[in-house]
Amino acid sequence: MSGNGCSFKYVIIGDTAVGKSSLLSIFTDKIRSDKYEPTIGVDFEKKQLDLDGKSVEINIWDTSGHPRYRQIAASYYKGVLGVIIVYDITNLESFQNLNSWLNEIKNESSNACKILVGNKNDLEKDRKVTFEQGKEFANQNGMKFFETSVKENNNVKEIFLTIAKEIIQLNTNTKTNEKKEKNERLNYVIVGRICLILAIISVICYNYNK
Ligand code: GDP
Repeated sequence: MSGNGCSFKYVIIGDTAVGKSSLLSIFTDKIRSDKYEPTIGVDFEKKQLDLDGKSVEINIWDTSGHPRYRQIAASYYKGVLGVIIVYDITNLESFQNLNSWLNEIKNESSNACKILVGNKNDLEKDRKVTFEQGKEFANQNGMKFFETSVKENNNVKEIFLTIAKEIIQLNTNTKTNEKKEKNERLNYVIVGRICLILAIISVICYNYNK
């Protein structure tokens, strides 16, 4: 978080052709052709959101899923607050590779909010991964889960909003806990000082009565 408003950094990861760039384009209203154009290294877009009256700028890094660019993509994971991991529900391999993607970001994303996205759910007849399989994987790895269709613009905005809300919530909880700890420390100091004063008074009274 930074400045008066907030600025959140997201990355989108997952195998090639699962729909990462399409998700980003539709969310940021970027015009994109239907023709498949693979991402070279990384792509970047930003979007301003209004969350309950609070202005949030979302900076989104779209990484190439191609092994050739993984090294480059990895350098963009630093300081990330939101991770969107995408697979294609019609492509079993993209689902089976999810663990390797989680592994890829594990060093940089321990404090990040992660979300799992099963994209292309308009292609029901070609489905290879069930909704339940996606949900179970997400549960096992502490992530929220959405199925989306970029083609039908279904659930796309929701994934970006859900992460932003989680980040804000996490930050609020951290601040509340820090405040609680500070108050507890202050209480210990006060009690400690009172005990010390009482001890001094007892010694003075004892000496006085001798
Ligand atoms: P990336 O390599 O993960 O960034 O994938 P792209 O965003 O480039 O998408 C790969 C291909 O899948 C493109 O031809 C897109 O038009 C297509 N695509 C993306 N999302 C969907 C979707 O929700 N439904 C369908 N039917 N096609 C999609």
